[in-house]
Amino acid sequence: MIQVKNLVGGQFFSTEEVFDDISPINNTVIASVPRTKSVQSAVSAAEIAFEEWSKLSIEERCDWLDKIADGLEARIEEIAKLEALDTGKPIDVALNVDSKRSVNNFRFFAGFGRDLKNETFEMDDATNYVVRKPVGIVGLISPWNLPLYLLTWKIAPALLMGNVVIAKPSELTPLTAHLLGKICVEIGLPNGVLNIVNGYGPEIGQKIVEHPKIKAISFTGGTATGKQVAATAAPLFKKLSLELGGKNASIVLDDADLEIAVPGVLRASFLNSGQICLCGSRILVHSSLYESFLSRYLEELERFEIGPVISNQHREKILSYIELAKSEGGSIIFGGNVIEKAGAWIEPTVITDLSHKSRTATEEIFGPVVTIHSFDSDEEAIEMANSTEYGLAGSVWSRERGRTVAERIESGMVWVNTWLHRDLRVPFGGIKDSGVGREGGMWSIGFFSEAVNICVMED
Ligand code: NAP
Repeated sequence: MIQVKNLVGGQFFSTEEVFDDISPINNTVIASVPRTKSVQSAVSAAEIAFEEWSKLSIEERCDWLDKIADGLEARIEEIAKLEALDTGKPIDVALNVDSKRSVNNFRFFAGFGRDLKNETFEMDDATNYVVRKPVGIVGLISPWNLPLYLLTWKIAPALLMGNVVIAKPSELTPLTAHLLGKICVEIGLPNGVLNIVNGYGPEIGQKIVEHPKIKAISFTGGTATGKQVAATAAPLFKKLSLELGGKNASIVLDDADLEIAVPGVLRASFLNSGQICLCGSRILVHSSLYESFLSRYLEELERFEIGPVISNQHREKILSYIELAKSEGGSIIFGGNVIEKAGAWIEPTVITDLSHKSRTATEEIFGPVVTIHSFDSDEEAIEMANSTEYGLAGSVWSRERGRTVAERIESGMVWVNTWLHRDLRVPFGGIKDSGVGREGGMWSIGFFSEAVNICVMED
């Protein structure tokens, strides 16, 4: 059994009280995790570390990011194994999505930092230039669906810009953050630059958000938790980035190429058991293609490999939505049942005959459940896609009109004839109830720095 420990000021330690980390593959206890209730020692360690770390040049910090990337890359298989064990996802997803992207987050921001240009604004009689200063101690809070991937997406730019970090992984998936901590100690990252604390969200997560010396919070998680984080952080005037839930539409227009649309929409439905905030859980198909799309989609679904969902408790939530769908008049045309083996297994589930305004079709389920709806015009598809409180992502499948429709979807990100195709320079984030702010490329640089303008009058 793994003993997960906190990393504070370069030292690993546990707490008197610990809790179990359970694998959703077969419900076995795989680790014990500290139940941390105070963040003060991490803040004190971070304050000391900030003195030196913030004085390093950006090139020196880029070199550190590359060293962390090297350390992760050397243990990429181990990361994949731990992530698969902790989340239940298939090992190839853990390797090709989670592990590789975690390495790439550090590599990307190292390269991005080296390429950062001076920002100057010339006037007739003066020159303005921007100095990007670190914010200070930043709190980074991440969910369980892509544990190391999402945490490193925050840690890398935060360190790059000279901040020191207090990170909290989800209580359900602490294993890879613990390994990252060990790697950082092994490579000699200065003590206190990266601190990792474990525990329950409402306890240690809340303490991070409340602590007055933690100057910025980057939070990824559910919309309800995001609201609580915002309510706590706003009166303290903290910088706040909120990456929250979604209920994204995959729109198949009448001129779609089904050769790419069917596998693309299927992957968007069920990758990571539908537990990616970007998953397309509302599938809108033009009536002229509906039958042919559906038969090919269901045929390909028979061969799609998914793992369990994150926990028995989460499976209960998903099952309650399947029951809700039935009571709302939906037809379960695929799956809908628990898979009878130890662990949090559930069949991928496809539901039709629901109104696109039903609760099942508009609330985030965050599991392997999709609803399929048909439409008769682009206008109708756009209206249906926009009829949720969320606005995170979406995809449009069309030979000719993808861009036109994509631009009218109320979401932070829309793909055309692809899904989850990521360039780390682009803005990532949602509108409406899906969040506030953007991360990625210059948007992360902006969040994790204070831009100070110096205006110099010419002689
Ligand atoms: P969650 O329950 O909101 O938890 C997210 C993180 O916040 C966890 O580390 C959690 O700790 C912590 N937390 C809980 N209560 C807190 C509090 N009062 N103060 C501070 N932190 C607190 O979300 P989840 O169930 O882990 O993740 C699923 C959700 O994340 C879905 O809604 C999904 O759409 C969203 N998500 C969004 C994005 C995006 O980029 N927009 C990406 C991935 C996931 P514990 O785990 O210990 O409770």
